[in-house]
Amino acid sequence: MPGATVGVLGGGQLGRMMAIEARRMGYRVVVLDPSPRCPTAQVADGVVVGALDDLESARHLAQQVDVITLDTEHVPADLLAELEKIVPVRPGSSVLRTINDRQIQKQFLDRLGLPQAQWAPSTTQPELDAALVKLGRPAIVKVRRAGYDGKGQVRVEETGDAGAELAKLRGEPSVAEELVRFKREISVVLARGLTGELKIYPIAENVHRRHILHTTRAPAPMKPATKVRAEEIAITVAEALGHVGVMAVEMFELVDGRLLVNEIAPRTHNSGHYTWGACVTSQFEQHIRAVCGLPLGDPRPMTGAVMVNLIGDLWRAGQPAWEHVLERPEARLHLYGKDAPAPGRKMGHVLLLDDDTDRGLVTADQLIATLTPT
Ligand code: AMP
Repeated sequence: MPGATVGVLGGGQLGRMMAIEARRMGYRVVVLDPSPRCPTAQVADGVVVGALDDLESARHLAQQVDVITLDTEHVPADLLAELEKIVPVRPGSSVLRTINDRQIQKQFLDRLGLPQAQWAPSTTQPELDAALVKLGRPAIVKVRRAGYDGKGQVRVEETGDAGAELAKLRGEPSVAEELVRFKREISVVLARGLTGELKIYPIAENVHRRHILHTTRAPAPMKPATKVRAEEIAITVAEALGHVGVMAVEMFELVDGRLLVNEIAPRTHNSGHYTWGACVTSQFEQHIRAVCGLPLGDPRPMTGAVMVNLIGDLWRAGQPAWEHVLERPEARLHLYGKDAPAPGRKMGHVLLLDDDTDRGLVTADQLIATLTPT
């Protein structure tokens, strides 16, 4: 119940937004992160400074909180299993064991009979050669662990040197996937509570640029049968994992309407940022409710919305011209408090509240173009 203390492993923007929502509801928040000035620590009640794979630091966190949750899935499952001896960890080590290795995640999806791109192990050159025979070219090779936003991914082109591409991954265990010619990308963000209660947010349509999420619009215009299928897939995943908390399932939608699962994120997700402002209960509040064993909130949208990410590149000529965002009545500015705007780094986002999401997408791109002074 409010008044209790939530521990968060990882101090990025997801932890920050969770912490803001948790504190609004009267919770205390303590975060574990290597940096005492990380985005979450700036808004938390306390910070334990330490690496996410450092058991002593994590134990130190566990001793001062009532429940532990995650800002990132890149935490060792064995470490979570140790923390579970001290305090509830949600989602728990078994969920992380399935998710934070791409190969195990893919085997899990295959076991459930859920659709995904063809894949094969590709760590060694003979494995990659066999994978390319099975999958054809181009193919995408991804490291099994710790990849995100296109990091730890290479593409083997029609005529490219597969060995040279594989070498870029420096022997890291990897899996290869066929290149999917999708019509669009969507994601289902849902929450599963301690009792198994489920709440599903409106489905998001996502556009990536250079492997990083650029825009999300929601609710995504879509055929009712596709929506039902997408939700069914996400529910199957959440239940099979025994997940507790918010979870996102990213999918490719093909021209013929079929869906393929791309990846599962056992946490709040960038494509669910729109819920904070557009829905009755944000994904961040919902996650706190789920991990604290509260009844889940209402995911209903109050308006259509477009979210556009603010990537570090926008800072190349100094502070972006925020007045262009702030003067728009439908726009909400979110900045994550990161002090080093590196290229490709997610620095913030803008939410545009507009029932006409086609118009919202046009506005988003116009806005981004005006932010960098030329
Ligand atoms: P990931 O980090 O695996 O989600 O990949 C980031 C983005 O790269 C995805 O959202 C897609 O836009 C693209 N991508 C990843 N895997 C594939 C694939 N097998 N076929 C086509 N595009 C892909």
